[in-house]
Amino acid sequence: MSKLLILHADILVPHEPSRVLRDAAIAIENKKIVALGETPPDFHADEIIDARHHVALPGFFNAHAHAAMTLLRGSAEDLPLDRWFNEGIWRTESALTEEDVYWGTALAACEMLRGGTVAFADHYFWMTQVARVVQESGMKALLAWCVFGSDFASEMGPTTLELTGDFVAEFQNSAGGRIKTMLGPHSPYISTEAALRRAANLARKLGVGCHIHVSESPAQVENAYKQFGKSPVAYLDDLGVFENPSIAAHAIYLDDADIEILRARNVTVAACPKTHLKLAMKTTRLVDLLRAGVKVALGTDGAASNNDLNMLEVARLAALLQKHDTGDATVLPSAQTLNLASRHGALALGFVNSGLMQVGADADLILLDTDKPHFAPCHDLAANVLYAARAGDVDYVIVDGKPLVRKGALTTLDEEKIMREANARGARMVRSALTQTQTYRA
Ligand SMILES: [Zn+2]
Repeated sequence: MSKLLILHADILVPHEPSRVLRDAAIAIENKKIVALGETPPDFHADEIIDARHHVALPGFFNAHAHAAMTLLRGSAEDLPLDRWFNEGIWRTESALTEEDVYWGTALAACEMLRGGTVAFADHYFWMTQVARVVQESGMKALLAWCVFGSDFASEMGPTTLELTGDFVAEFQNSAGGRIKTMLGPHSPYISTEAALRRAANLARKLGVGCHIHVSESPAQVENAYKQFGKSPVAYLDDLGVFENPSIAAHAIYLDDADIEILRARNVTVAACPKTHLKLAMKTTRLVDLLRAGVKVALGTDGAASNNDLNMLEVARLAALLQKHDTGDATVLPSAQTLNLASRHGALALGFVNSGLMQVGADADLILLDTDKPHFAPCHDLAANVLYAARAGDVDYVIVDGKPLVRKGALTTLDEEKIMREANARGARMVRSALTQTQTYRA
């Protein structure tokens, strides 16, 4: 197993906010950080990275994504949520093919890696193709094959809940442990009660959680009360959807009882602040959730609503929005916010030994070039990273001790070919979309 040595780095430790190591070494062996600060005396590295003028920190974990939606980037603009679905996304996706998912995800992987993302929680169709990209790229991922709950007639694929269960059984802990899985029922507003109950039972049998969209609009909550006499969160909980640790994407409109359910069930709320701003959806109450002891992580959502996959920007917007909405500038300090994007995301995705800058942790880390005007001077390294750094500053991305980005270049993916394929496929989808796959009614 190769040994990697990083020298002269400034090291940010977001999970210990007051700790910054200057001009320090990181020794990596057998996919793990084996030393931090000083180089062990008998360490003979296969590769040495001179990290002078670089900051090292844990890589980002994108906790809610639809990676292949890069193909739909910019195709449904300036629309409210219902029209975004009905006139845009669910029409264009009628032209989606299995191979499109591979190329769209590969494009997303290029973009995510270039922005310092080491892992992503994907919720989309034809997950075997997403797994292929994860295997080839060297990234880590939590994969959930989305089902609407109608089985075959109107499913993308077409697929069934059972087939997505087969995917879980086959791919859990595959790619040397880099792939984790969940089930992916779409949402309480699209999936029927019977389908959600079946998903909950299957998740229990497989010992996995569910990755699901929850409480994105006031209308979704109102309709849940009308139909079921309870909130979407209470409804999903009663059906057993949250029995194993799960991811609730967005979760914007929550009452105190919902928050208590999410805490008690160990559900991670994945907030996607850029989508929330762009689709005028209000904001996930991260400060309230954190105070209540609910797990919180951050996601980009798909590039059809973001429109990029930049976790630095997502983290920055998360902090800014919470300060703005609460009227309290002290909430979500820089290191804590970066920790949401790294350690909290790692836990949400099931990589319990990652997102940490410490000896024994998985070597999933990034190096940003700080020799830039927007990094000078450096009074507060965490603040410079959160509020001033750019995705283009990412020089190295290391996953399981292997550089996937080296000196700003991708080492595992053929970016030129991927962009060419994705451009052609995105254009074809928008041109040839005729029918609508689903109807959004809240
Ligand atoms: Zn989503």
